[in-house]
Parts: sequence; structure tokens; C-alpha cells
Amino acid sequence: MVDILIKNGQIVDGSGAPAYAADLAVKDGKIVQIGPDLDLEAAETLDAAGKQVVPGFIESHTHSDSIVFTGSDSYNFIEQGVTSQIAGNCGSSPTPYYPESQIKEKGNLTEEEFQARKEMAKSPATFMAAAEKQCYGTNLALFAGHSPIRGHAMAYRAGRANAEEMADMKAMLEEAMQAGFLGMSTGLVYAPSVYADTEELIELSSVMSKYNGIYVSHIRGEGDNVMRSLKEAIRIGEESGCRTHISHLKVMGKHNEGRSPELLKEIDAANARGLIVNADQYPYNASSAPLQSQIPPKYLIGGVPALLERIRDPKIRKEILWSIFHETDEFESGVYYSGFDGALITGSDKAPEFVNKTLAQIAAERGIEPIDALCEVLLANNGYAQGCYFNQNAVDLLYIMKHPRVFCGADSSDRRVKADREKVGGTHPRGTATTLRRIEIVRDFRLRTMEESIKNLTFDTAQAFGLANIGLLKEGWNADITVLEYDKVHARADYVHPYRKGDGISDVIVNGQMAVRGGEFLGTRAGKVMKRG
Ligand SMILES: [Zn+2]
Repeated sequence: MVDILIKNGQIVDGSGAPAYAADLAVKDGKIVQIGPDLDLEAAETLDAAGKQVVPGFIESHTHSDSIVFTGSDSYNFIEQGVTSQIAGNCGSSPTPYYPESQIKEKGNLTEEEFQARKEMAKSPATFMAAAEKQCYGTNLALFAGHSPIRGHAMAYRAGRANAEEMADMKAMLEEAMQAGFLGMSTGLVYAPSVYADTEELIELSSVMSKYNGIYVSHIRGEGDNVMRSLKEAIRIGEESGCRTHISHLKVMGKHNEGRSPELLKEIDAANARGLIVNADQYPYNASSAPLQSQIPPKYLIGGVPALLERIRDPKIRKEILWSIFHETDEFESGVYYSGFDGALITGSDKAPEFVNKTLAQIAAERGIEPIDALCEVLLANNGYAQGCYFNQNAVDLLYIMKHPRVFCGADSSDRRVKADREKVGGTHPRGTATTLRRIEIVRDFRLRTMEESIKNLTFDTAQAFGLANIGLLKEGWNADITVLEYDKVHARADYVHPYRKGDGISDVIVNGQMAVRGGEFLGTRAGKVMKRG
């Protein structure tokens, strides 16, 4: 007797091999048999006639780290057919804990909850232990964020680390690698990660090389400085001996349109000389980031309270405005590329009247300057607001998507509270629809065959991150399986209705347990922590 028998489907196994008709059987969390007309007794039988049976998708770039504290059913990813996700990106992670790091979360928590989280996040090993005790909808792998590693050693101080600080950072990273993190991520536009120079990052990455760790980076510049920034990341990988992964590869700014082939050539050249350099991408023309990170990092020295103090001063606001649009060699703000009329406020918990308006709109309504609107939104939210910045173009998006070393990355998080699907505004649609939209674009622009499209979302991603036993439909491998109608996959979420559920996914199985049945999300928490190796 098997647990689940999927009958009459078309198997697209993730290897790129041609699709074929067969049945598939699951028992005890594993795929136990694939073959024609399997006649087995099963606790549950799914009829997949007219549908594709594929490995569960692997979401290579998320920020779901805080589900380690809370658990999560991962519904916004599971509903897209995702069965595994990789968090801890862009230099961001709750561990190791440092006092300046969780002011926002502390504000929303009871003292008792805050103390419990602080204990869990104390160091990478305690965090990993907590992660393994929690329950998630998807499988979960983690990167160690450079921001808390640096913050733990030297808070929000800019400049070079001294010997003692360097030793602290290296010890934390070593602990993370031993605990099973995949590697270290940097967010070189976010404080305090942004304060590190290349030498610091090479020295730190060298700690990871003996563990076959991955250096994953939100690079310093993604517009005018994108090539210089890409080269820096490749150099860090090359000199430290680590694999390199570029987060949300893109080209920002109308005046930079068409530069992506140049970047892809640089990535190809690095791989040709024996390095391993990969990337991920979200299939949208707007980025999404905290509003505070649109302000040049020199104004964030000392942390968010120091920033709030500074932006009360009209003279400093003028300086910030000048810096955003003129000191772009030092720091690239998303607002520089989107303009204030392309900067849409999506998160403003303490002042919801700003949500779904651009900074230009807010300014016009109030008769103030757009930079003042930016500062007022920040002040109204104690420094923590979120925005979408329309700063990319379709041409480069397609070039990048077509590249075989570029994987699917939502750059979003598990949504623990279910939002009304018709809710207007409030977030970037990539948290709801990245995988579906990627499939849709690849299919409709004929960037890949169906088999190659599935391979990119599954086996190739697993290989790029060294994740064992997932990404293929193969006997003995994990029963992470998605049943879909490839031709009907359609992302419905957009910037106006970012929570709308998409089409095409009928069933999802995680570790041998049904998570979506007949399009209905079940709330199953069968995901497990995936460690390095
Ligand atoms: Zn990022």
C-alpha cells in the first residue's frame, strides 16, 4: 500500500528529458515508483489526466527567516507550486542577535516574546536549532546574513573592522557554516552590510570556502554601477574560493536599458575560467525595499533612531535629496532610477493613509516637496516603511530570464497572515506570483521548452545551491511534487491587486504529504530544514 498514487499524468521529471505518460507512487515521503499503468493500492489517488506532474519548485531567494520564530504554512509559496525555499538573503537574517537589529519587531512583540526570540537568535547555532524545531509549509534552507554578523561585531559603525571585530565576524560565520547554513549573504546597499569593503568580504568568505559555502550578494549597484558591482562579487568569489551567486540580477534606469547582455557575458566568462557564478531574478519591473534604504547609508550611521533624528532637520533633507540624485557613484538609491513618481508606498503600518500612493502623489496632496513626503512617511512609521520602485525594463528582464544560470527568486517572504485576495495595494505582487509569472513569460516568449523551464525551476536550482535529493522525479528522491496545467499557468496578482491567487496549480505534495488538493490549500506543515550538503 502506497500513500499517494498519481495516475494518468504527463511526467516532466526535472532533468530536461522529454515529458512522458506515466503514473507515480509516493510512500513515506519518498517517490517509490514511476511507470506506466501502476496498479497499486493507495491511501489516496489523484487523477492527473491532461496535467503535468513535476518536481516541486525551488524558490531560491526569500526573506522568510522570521518563520523560524513563528512557524508558517507558507501558503503564498505553496499555492505557486513551491515546495522548498531559501531564506537569509540580501545580508539579512535575525541571527546573530545584536541590540540595534530588532527594534521594529520589538515594537510589535510582548517583552516575553521578544526575549524568547532574542534567545533563539543569539547565535547561528541556536537559530538553526530553533529552525529545526519549527514547522513550515515548505522546506527551508538558510543563508547567514552579513548585516547581523557585522552588527554583532561593530553595530552600525562605518569603516574597517579592527582585528578583534574581524575575529568576532569570522567566528560567527564559522559557527553558521558548521550549523548547516548554505553560506553568507550580503546586502551592499543596506546598513550595516553596506559599510563593508571588498577586503572584509574576501576575508570573511575565505572562512566558507572549506565548507563549499556560497557567497550570495545583493550587489552594491544595479544601475550605473552594475558592472563594477558584479565584478566585485565575482572577485570576492574568486579570491576566497567560494561559489558566487548574484541576487535579483537586474539593470536599473531607463538610461541603462540594454546593458544586461554585457553582464551575462561577464558571468559566462567567470564560469568559463572555472569559477561558479549563478544568479536569481524576479520577473517584475519594480524593485521592492524598505524606504529607509533609499536614503544614502551615511545618514544611517548609528542606526534608525539616528536617521530619524537627522531627517527632522530640513537642511539635512536637502542634503539627502542632493545625495540621492548626484552622489550616485557612492550609493544607488532605487528612487534615483524610479523618480518620486515611480516610488509607490506599499507598507506603512502606522500611517495607512500613505499606502498605494507614490511619493509624488503624497507630496502633491500635502503641498510639500517629494523628499519631505519620503521623510514624513518614514517619521510616521518610526523608520520602517516599504516601497515599490518602478526602475527596470522588459528588454533586460527577458535577456536575464533566458540565461541558464539564472533561477527563480521572489525576494519575498512567507505571509503569515492571510490577506484578502482582492485587497488593493499593500505589497509587491512577487510574494504571490513570482513562480507563475516566470513560467508564463518563459512559455509565452518561448525562452525555453516546457521541459527546460521545469528543469530551471527544480533540478538546476537544487544543483546551484547544493541541495540533495530534491528537484527530480526519481525513485528514492523526496516526494516534493507539483501537479499543474502548464498551458494554463497564469499569474493574476499585480501591483493593484498583489494578493490575487494565480491559475494552473492543482496539487502540491511536500515530503509525501498533500499540501494543495484540487487547487485547495490545506495548511499542511510538512516542510523540513535543509542543511548544507
Ligand atoms: Zn536584495
